Amino acid sequence: MTLAMSIETNQLQQLKPLSVPNRLLLGPGPCNAHPTVLQAMSTTPLGHLDPAFLQIMDEIQSLLRYAWQTDNPHTIAVSGTGSAAMEATIANSVEPGDVMLIGVAGYFGNRLVDMAGRYGADVRTISKPWGQNFSIEELRAAMAEHRPKILGLVHAETSTGCRQPIDGVGELCREYDCLLLLDTVTSLGGVPIHLDKWGVDLAYSCSQKGLGCAPGASPFTMSPRAMAKLLARKTKVPNWYLDMLLLGKYWGAERMYHHTAPINLYYGLREALRLVSEEGIDNSWARHQANVEYLWSSLESIGLKMHVEKQYRLPTLTTVCIPDGVDGKAVAKQLLTEHNIEVGGGLGELAGKVWRVGLMGYNSRKESVDRLIAALTQVI
Ligand code: PLP
Repeated sequence: MTLAMSIETNQLQQLKPLSVPNRLLLGPGPCNAHPTVLQAMSTTPLGHLDPAFLQIMDEIQSLLRYAWQTDNPHTIAVSGTGSAAMEATIANSVEPGDVMLIGVAGYFGNRLVDMAGRYGADVRTISKPWGQNFSIEELRAAMAEHRPKILGLVHAETSTGCRQPIDGVGELCREYDCLLLLDTVTSLGGVPIHLDKWGVDLAYSCSQKGLGCAPGASPFTMSPRAMAKLLARKTKVPNWYLDMLLLGKYWGAERMYHHTAPINLYYGLREALRLVSEEGIDNSWARHQANVEYLWSSLESIGLKMHVEKQYRLPTLTTVCIPDGVDGKAVAKQLLTEHNIEVGGGLGELAGKVWRVGLMGYNSRKESVDRLIAALTQVI
């Protein structure tokens, strides 16, 4: 007997093969992935427990430690975007009722607040206007007042283009027996980071910015101090997918199935990290700095001003003040539609006030700046 079920066709579409516009991505991320990375990603998938794939996972771990300047054994890629790795740091370190102090000087500080609250943290905040950062004295005063178990800071606040100096913060956290959690989504690969020398206990990042890969495989690391807190938990990590004790069995010696890794993204991340190591992480930082200084002087030469004080500006992301009388959204739209260049708009307190220009990973090149300036000169 055959079951004759009719096929609904109201959602059926007859499409041509995928074709996407050729954009230069100079916004807050993603950036254009390196051609070598794209090539690696188009290789046929291996099985997620194939020894050849496990070897790639090992290489990712080691190269990530190099890029972050850490020896943390538990350094992996989370299958998901930066927000997944961000949530993983919170899910694994926060136990209900733990006091977590968070520095909020932009959009992503607020996201940390939201996430920590959802995992039951007793969240305390210190705030600064968007575009500024916290001095060590301000952090010290807040630590003395709140005595947190975890201090969360954003190293590179993508919504403002401001860098948070970390010197001395690790020592401060140790004085208070507190873990230091750091968002390095817009800094890894492009801004100097020394996780171990700084005493950072938990950090996360993304693949699509300073590393020059596509989004979806996100660096995560935790120090032995953070691991000790995880092992001493009274309650299970309340997120199965991001539980580092389970993930550690896949990334570590046991090689136990946890989930089907996004194989091709891991190929891409491995290649992106290999390219960074070939260049040398210090050379990658220097390249980002040199190109962003060229961007700043080029923007100034056409009469534009930056939002952040020079010494704290990020090499990866610049907030450019929209001049009075200029429609920022219209300019960004024209750059995209007429020049195939993407720049970002302002978020939150900076909405309508700045454009966000990213020079990250593969896109941190002089040619990117020249193309943008030529287009801006026509559009503004
Ligand atoms: N943290 C910061 C500072 C970011 O800039 C971003 C994204 O741009 C995230 C976290 C979240 O990363 P994703 O968008 O890859 O989930």
